[in-house]
Amino acid sequence: MNKVFIAVGHGGRDPGALANNLREADCNLVMALAMEQVLLQHGLEVKLSRRTDCNNPVGEEIAACQQFAPELAVVIHNNAGGGRGFEVFHPVDAYMEESIALALLMEQEIRLLGQRSRGLKQNNRLRWMRKCTCPTVLCEGFFLDSDDYLLAQTEEQQATFGKAYAKAVLRWFEERK
Ligand SMILES: [Zn+2]
Repeated sequence: MNKVFIAVGHGGRDPGALANNLREADCNLVMALAMEQVLLQHGLEVKLSRRTDCNNPVGEEIAACQQFAPELAVVIHNNAGGGRGFEVFHPVDAYMEESIALALLMEQEIRLLGQRSRGLKQNNRLRWMRKCTCPTVLCEGFFLDSDDYLLAQTEEQQATFGKAYAKAVLRWFEERK
């Protein structure tokens, strides 16, 4: 069975970005649960790093992922700091090519929501990218502190991001059959 690990960024004492009455930790969880729902409907095995607003340190996320040993890991974050658009990070290692393939599919699906893309970014400084032991992408769906938030201010809108990530994952597995 195809296995996917979803790391749900921040949580508990660490809310992540805060702007426009949105908490990044909450947005990340809504997206992850919507993504999980679609993947489960398609018979995939899914594990989330957290399912509630609890502490979720990156080191524990990565350890849980390695124990689960999935074919794919998706790390869900959202952005702040002044900017617009989706961006997606991938590692530069043995998993680079397969990670880029997923990142491109994610970008395509996110554009269909009307969200622009800042593109794919390679990054080996992020702990997730250094330590991953399977193809991995880290998604930054939207900026909480720019006009972007109009695309993701309700839970329903946030769920559309999660569903788009799920479609990309399903296409990635489909291409590898
Ligand atoms: Zn974050």
